[in-house]
Amino acid sequence: MPIRPENKKRYPSNWKEIRASILERARNHCEFCGRENHTWFFNEKTKKMVRVVLTVAHLDHTPENCDPSNLRALCQRCHNQYDAKHRAETRKIYKKK
Ligand SMILES: [Zn+2]
Repeated sequence: MPIRPENKKRYPSNWKEIRASILERARNHCEFCGRENHTWFFNEKTKKMVRVVLTVAHLDHTPENCDPSNLRALCQRCHNQYDAKHRAETRKIYKKK
């Protein structure tokens, strides 16, 4: 997920290096689902082949918190799912089944 302009200044100046070290720790694989960066997979929703692009996610959604324990290398799919879950929790929306 791209960094929003309003959040960009919240990232440390060495973010690129931090990001690189996290991707290295993950050996270029998603730390949730294990997909390798830049490999292709079939997206069931869009019925299209999609290329994995690893991003570095903040587990607590705080860009200032760049402790390695707060950072995960995630593919865009896991990152979106993680963020969606967070958004739902933040708004305290609970779907009844
Ligand atoms: Zn993943």
